[in-house]
Amino acid sequence: MEDIELIELAKKAREFAYTPISGFKVGSALLTKEGKVFTGCNIEDSSGIGVTNICAERCAIVKAISEGFKNFEKIAVVGGNETCNKECLPCGVCRQYLNSFSPEIKVLSLNNEEIKTYDLKELLPFAFNEEFLN
Ligand code: ZN
Repeated sequence: MEDIELIELAKKAREFAYTPISGFKVGSALLTKEGKVFTGCNIEDSSGIGVTNICAERCAIVKAISEGFKNFEKIAVVGGNETCNKECLPCGVCRQYLNSFSPEIKVLSLNNEEIKTYDLKELLPFAFNEEFLN
């Protein structure tokens, strides 16, 4: 799947974002190693506390995991409104979450209509992993 296709799917998923508190909408599209795509959007609860909010990235990841997929190749993330040109990258929690399943994943974002690609390791250089548990 081409990167632009994954970005477009993330944009479509962003339309479903539920953000009564912040108004900041995010969409994601997660490509598994098997070639299946799971999309996600951010969802806020009405308390606005944040603990029960879920980001678009983790939304897509839990959908994939719940259907038996846990090896990921790429994830596209777009944030803001339809005309937003600012880059939106995963938050720290989502970076750690991605690292738990696929530390080699590529993260795609859109910056002024240019697709940027990052290795997760660039975004999370000192990730917590199972080595710390031993
Ligand atoms: Zn996040």
